[in-house]
Amino acid sequence: MHIQTAAVQTLRDHQHGAVVPPLHLASTFELDPATADGPFAYQRGSNPTRAELEQVLAVLDGAEHGFAFASGMAATAAAFSILETGDEVILSASVYGGTYRLVDKYFEARGLRARFVEDLGTLTEADVTERTRIVFVETPANPTLRITDLRRIVDLAHRGGALVVVDNTFMSGVLQRPLALGADVVVQSATKFLSGHSDILAGTITTNDADLAERFALAQKALGGVLPPFDSYRLIQTIKTLPLRLERQQANAIAIREHLGAHPAIGTVFFPGSHSEEEARIHASQASGPGAVLAFELAPEVDRVAFLRALRYPAYAVSLGGVESLICHPATMTHEAMTPEAQAEAGISPELLRLSVGIEDVADLVEDLDQALAAGLAAS
Ligand SMILES: *Cc1c(COP(=O)(O)O)cnc(C)c1O
Repeated sequence: MHIQTAAVQTLRDHQHGAVVPPLHLASTFELDPATADGPFAYQRGSNPTRAELEQVLAVLDGAEHGFAFASGMAATAAAFSILETGDEVILSASVYGGTYRLVDKYFEARGLRARFVEDLGTLTEADVTERTRIVFVETPANPTLRITDLRRIVDLAHRGGALVVVDNTFMSGVLQRPLALGADVVVQSATKFLSGHSDILAGTITTNDADLAERFALAQKALGGVLPPFDSYRLIQTIKTLPLRLERQQANAIAIREHLGAHPAIGTVFFPGSHSEEEARIHASQASGPGAVLAFELAPEVDRVAFLRALRYPAYAVSLGGVESLICHPATMTHEAMTPEAQAEAGISPELLRLSVGIEDVADLVEDLDQALAAGLAAS
């Protein structure tokens, strides 16, 4: 089954023949008095609506097991819940700002170590020590869109006895399937492309490893950061158009990137594969498209605030992946938890803007960017 078919056809209501599965809001379920057992007992442990969403999540990622959490960070925290005192995690310096915050604020006091590597492409076998439990990868990285060779990281990590966790938020299972490349765990912020309408906060974990799946089910039950039924129901709905939305958003992003690349008021444009031919080759070998997020630096003669104020369509807001275009300034917004030194190391300059491209008519978006750039030039 192709992914657009799977997104639409995975779930039916077999009890009543309804083409859309029902929403179960119950927090508790009747049990068999003889065994105190039943298919569901209490909403936090599991419930029919979340279980159906988790089935779709697994299908989209080509996984055996799927888990839905209350946010992308709850999913990442649950993935890190397998860590024990003394364990080390290797991450790229340009990891998602919230993941950086989690590691920065919670690891040290709990006896965990985080090692940030400027470029995971330079990781060697000697870097993966016996303390290394997880190599955490984001590719494309946020917001620089740098690419990491997943097969190579999987090989290095596994030889050193470590697990590979991939944050696949920028790609989703539609464009990239890390588990098929050997990764152990995929986490995603479903707040972004999976929701696609900027009105659900959610996170996901998928894996093929039965032991890890047990640990993540325990994290749901014991830590409790689960996705409520109503949001699960809505995510089942929004996922049906995920491949379709992504196709349009990606086509728009490609057109905008070409336009900006030739614009005199724009400096460097960043997108998957733009850093080097090597990264372009790697990305093409592990993903089926560049996605719908790009970043660019304004030329020095453009007044950033005037440019942003003049934009009619992309809202100046964090987040990404929705049907409406959004633009943000990573240095003061998404990545403000990082010190200026850490930002510089990750390639996040004060001039960098990140654009998440929506499904609007691309002619309107291009025209809007052009008039705002003219306003930014006039104001400086
Ligand atoms: C947004 C995001 C997260 C965190 O997800 P929330 O749903 O906001 O908690 C993690 N990773 C990446 C790459 C993100 O963009």
